[in-house]
Amino acid sequence: MGTSAKGLSFNWDPERHLAAIIDASEDAIISKDLEGIIRSWSRGAERLYGYTAAEVLDRNISILIPPDRRQETDEILVKLAEGKPVEKIETTRIKKDGSAINVLISASPIKNQSNQIVGAAIVSQDITGQKLSEEKLRHQYYHDLLTGLPNRIAFQERLAYAIEGAKITQKKLGILLIDLDRFNIINNSLGHPIGDRLVQEVALRLMSALFGRDFIARLGGDEFCILVENMEFEESAAKLGQKILDSFRPSFCFDGQELFVTASIGITVFPDDASSAAALIRNADTAMYRAKEQGGNKFQFYRSSMNVTAYKQLTLENTLRKALEKQEFVVYYQPQIETKSGKIVEVESLVRWMHPTMGLKFPDEFIHAAELTGVIEPLGEWALFESLRQLRLWHDDGFMISMALNFSNRQLKRPDMAKIVLASLEETNVDPKFLAIEVTENTFIEHSQSLLDSMQELRKMGVKFSIDDFNTGYSSLSYIKKYPVEMLKIDKSFVQGIPNNAKDSAIAQSIIALGHSLEMLVVAEGVETQQQAQFLTERNCDRLQGFLFSPAVPPDQLTKFLKSDKQKIP
Ligand code: C2E
Ligand code: CA
Ligand code: CA
Repeated sequence: MGTSAKGLSFNWDPERHLAAIIDASEDAIISKDLEGIIRSWSRGAERLYGYTAAEVLDRNISILIPPDRRQETDEILVKLAEGKPVEKIETTRIKKDGSAINVLISASPIKNQSNQIVGAAIVSQDITGQKLSEEKLRHQYYHDLLTGLPNRIAFQERLAYAIEGAKITQKKLGILLIDLDRFNIINNSLGHPIGDRLVQEVALRLMSALFGRDFIARLGGDEFCILVENMEFEESAAKLGQKILDSFRPSFCFDGQELFVTASIGITVFPDDASSAAALIRNADTAMYRAKEQGGNKFQFYRSSMNVTAYKQLTLENTLRKALEKQEFVVYYQPQIETKSGKIVEVESLVRWMHPTMGLKFPDEFIHAAELTGVIEPLGEWALFESLRQLRLWHDDGFMISMALNFSNRQLKRPDMAKIVLASLEETNVDPKFLAIEVTENTFIEHSQSLLDSMQELRKMGVKFSIDDFNTGYSSLSYIKKYPVEMLKIDKSFVQGIPNNAKDSAIAQSIIALGHSLEMLVVAEGVETQQQAQFLTERNCDRLQGFLFSPAVPPDQLTKFLKSDKQKIP
């Protein structure tokens, strides 16, 4: 018999081989008498608890039991005293070094030859490792690996739990669903590692915007959800929404690349909008898409009327197509003045909708919808033809001005873009060098070979390209080298601050310098005051456009300007 199993024979006569089996076992096998005094102690027990047999034999087994497990132990003892075995109880024990371990305990009563219970044999198995991996699995099940935030499953459970609580407290819950605007473009153009880092940074920004008790989870991709509990008013959710939008204002920076990122937020409220977790998340999603439809970078509360979106979109598309058929769209023209000569050198074509009952509608009321529904393609084609037709008339009158046209991304990405433009030029018999196409920087975030090909084809024919709303997009400047662009338009948001806002003035000035160093023409738009015009002229801005000179006007009115401008070529 081994030393460690010493004493196993008290009041009992075991087979010799039993001792060998006991000592070979990984598990701790201990026997104790009715007083709880340890009577045998296997090698496995030495390994598990850290005590040698000599240290524990004749001591009370309570040295292994943490105080919070005393009651449980008493219950086990009662069972054993009744002659019943105890199977696989998960509990904790204390090792010699004082540390706690997770063990699985089974015990059976030991009887003497007269069938009286004299003690118990206890087998304890170390499950600390198993516990840890269960803990780890549990963590992985409820958390998102990339950000370490709770995941969709955790959010759904937490929300369901909060709903039960809110039913009792009669408080409201706010659910905010946050989705980054144009994340796909960033992810595809800058690569997934940058996309991942952006998501991590976004998680940090969101967390810093939260108030102590709000719960945040990443639902997947670039989608996050926040739960606000114990809400008194809807305004608290709105305030948080605004705080989040504000937190995105400073740019993100990765490997020297500066990224401007905005988000769309959908907000829904329990119990006003829905009573189940699933319906609330769906509502928040619907509201979030509505925020995106309105151009993003905003929050939007859910309204039950939103569920008719698909139907509405269809009627919107029909309305726009009908308007186009019924020739309700018209083109207005806004002049661009050359600073050197003070003359009109170009006009920008800006579409208006003459609504039969609602009157004149501006592009901000229909261009986005036209892009969404695809109507922008026929509308854009029509505007191009109509503007060139008008330009032909001006050229015939001897006013050799250029025409600038706005092209949305959807139009530009058409594989037949160049063909359509060249056909219009040919049909109206306008020299391509009088056409300038305005595109925004965001067009170039995602490289498109077909766009580059179209632009190069048109450029070869003499068509020019200018960057509209320069410096407001997400793109890095590198596209300027790759794509054939001849002109930069300083966005009116920078012109507005001139000359009092030092930052705006500095930005405008550096755009002029930048444009010139790249041998491009620089146009300032939104010029409303004499001081702005003077500031820009002094800094060699090539052209000015804005209300100071003229808003966009119908063609006959522009003809009058041209005539008074006396730039008729003899
Ligand atoms: P945009 O290309 O940036 O056009 C300039 C906008 O600024 C025009 O608004 C113009 O009326 C306005 N604006 C001009 N001078 C001033 C000024 O001094 N102060 C202020 N505050 N605003 C000024 P509009 O006509 O409402 O057009 C809005 C946008 O709609 C345009 O922005 C353009 O992106 C889009 N758009 C217009 N026509 C078309 C079109 O035919 N196709 C496409 N794809 N987009 C168009
Ligand atoms: Ca423009
Ligand atoms: Ca613009």
